[in-house]
Amino acid sequence: MNYADIKQYDVANGPGVRVSLFVSGCTHHCKECFNPETWDFGYGKPFTEETIKEIIGYLEPSYIKGLTLLGGDPLEHCNQIALLPLVKRVKEVYPEKNLWCYTGYDFEKDVKGYMMKEWEGTRELLSYIDVLVDGEFEIEKKNLKLAFRGSSNQRIILVQESLEKGQLKLWHSAYEKEIMTKEKQYFFINRKIIRRPKEEKTVLVRENI
Ligand code: SF4
Repeated sequence: MNYADIKQYDVANGPGVRVSLFVSGCTHHCKECFNPETWDFGYGKPFTEETIKEIIGYLEPSYIKGLTLLGGDPLEHCNQIALLPLVKRVKEVYPEKNLWCYTGYDFEKDVKGYMMKEWEGTRELLSYIDVLVDGEFEIEKKNLKLAFRGSSNQRIILVQESLEKGQLKLWHSAYEKEIMTKEKQYFFINRKIIRRPKEEKTVLVRENI
């Protein structure tokens, strides 16, 4: 595998300050992809044992919350095989840090549909990944307000919880969680916030505020 870049301090691709690895190679070719040069599997530099050591070193400070894999697509088959030793090492050395991965593949259709069944290493790779942001970038669904994803079709999936429970569990930012909690407790009438009586079970009424 080749890689395009390593960002030592990244705040755009997952929560907190993170190290990000941009791998080379992607077969999705999404319209208006943010990084088309990484489609080429030969782009960038060779990913070696030295690269792994470099990333392990970058992850050391306590303020670094974790590692993000993106690209390119880390879940192209050859990339999965190359990334396995890295994610294994990261979790051994820093079990408290989280691992995010971006892919153009779909979690149910592709990852669970055939990769986990047919590809050697996918199950093990996934066992180290905490969060998977899935789906191709769709320009028609582009939304700059979304946290950590480019288009609204993409989902931020809690991998271990979703696999364990057999149903999709999504990650939400602290801001989204706050909104969701408030929506459960309150509703809005004529721009006024009304606390929902505990016994009320009606659907949320919401007006523009
Ligand atoms: S999956 Fe990501 S890297 Fe690949 S073409 Fe789409 S946006 Fe670009």
